[in-house]
Amino acid sequence: MKCVECGKELSYIDHRKSIEMFNVELCEHHRLRMERLMRKNNTPVEAVKLYYGLKSAGENPMLEWWDGKRSVDLAISRVKLNIEIDTEYQMLTHEQAMNDLEETMHSFQNGFTTIRIPHIIIKHYLQETVQNIMGIIEGLRANIKVI
Ligand SMILES: [Zn+2]
Repeated sequence: MKCVECGKELSYIDHRKSIEMFNVELCEHHRLRMERLMRKNNTPVEAVKLYYGLKSAGENPMLEWWDGKRSVDLAISRVKLNIEIDTEYQMLTHEQAMNDLEETMHSFQNGFTTIRIPHIIIKHYLQETVQNIMGIIEGLRANIKVI
């Protein structure tokens, strides 16, 4: 039981709190830091789970990456991939859907690919979600080489 960020030994309580919240082992310092970041950016907990899922698969994701206009939930910079976690489907209005489409258009124009992932699949199928994103990263990397 060690913090994945700093390698510090975890107490049972820290281990349990962190696993319950993020499904990853973090010491109190790193857990509180993550909670602050989430409060500040209104980050869904699934974004944090996916962040650590991708990290443990060997990727180097960035959480709450600022693209110059807005904060993206997750970004994989080497293949210019933005990942947004959708949390409120029932509440999605047509204005929000239109905004999402416009954001997707702008990111494509800047050479970025944006994918939107429903939070429920991260909640229930974290490993499968990570595997699929790894496949998308592979595909993007192959396409970048072709260009
Ligand atoms: Zn730590």
